Amino acid sequence: MGIQVNISLPREVLVTIRETLKEEHNRLVSAMAENDANLEALRNAIVNSEPNQDIQRTLVDSESVYGKSYLVTLRGDDYSCSCPAFQFKTGLDMLGHCKHIERVVRERRFR
Ligand SMILES: [Zn+2]
Repeated sequence: MGIQVNISLPREVLVTIRETLKEEHNRLVSAMAENDANLEALRNAIVNSEPNQDIQRTLVDSESVYGKSYLVTLRGDDYSCSCPAFQFKTGLDMLGHCKHIERVVRERRFR
């Protein structure tokens, strides 16, 4: 059982409170609409920036570390790999491929 307090407010004060709440409500509704529009724009940007049919990905197991694998991605004609050799451009072949990309090409994983 809480403490009950009855307060009688003058009509002008009630009108002011009601107006303030209405303004706040309208402000929140428009902020939410703006937020929805931003989310929609962001979603469209993501969807349009990466057409899935143009990107293929496959995991290639590491030869040196058991249980480790790297993600090889083919985007258009460009291969990339998540391994350190590719990231730091060390030990790549003449085409700029690391051994994981070489394996994907050799095994013809992408069509
Ligand atoms: Zn690699």
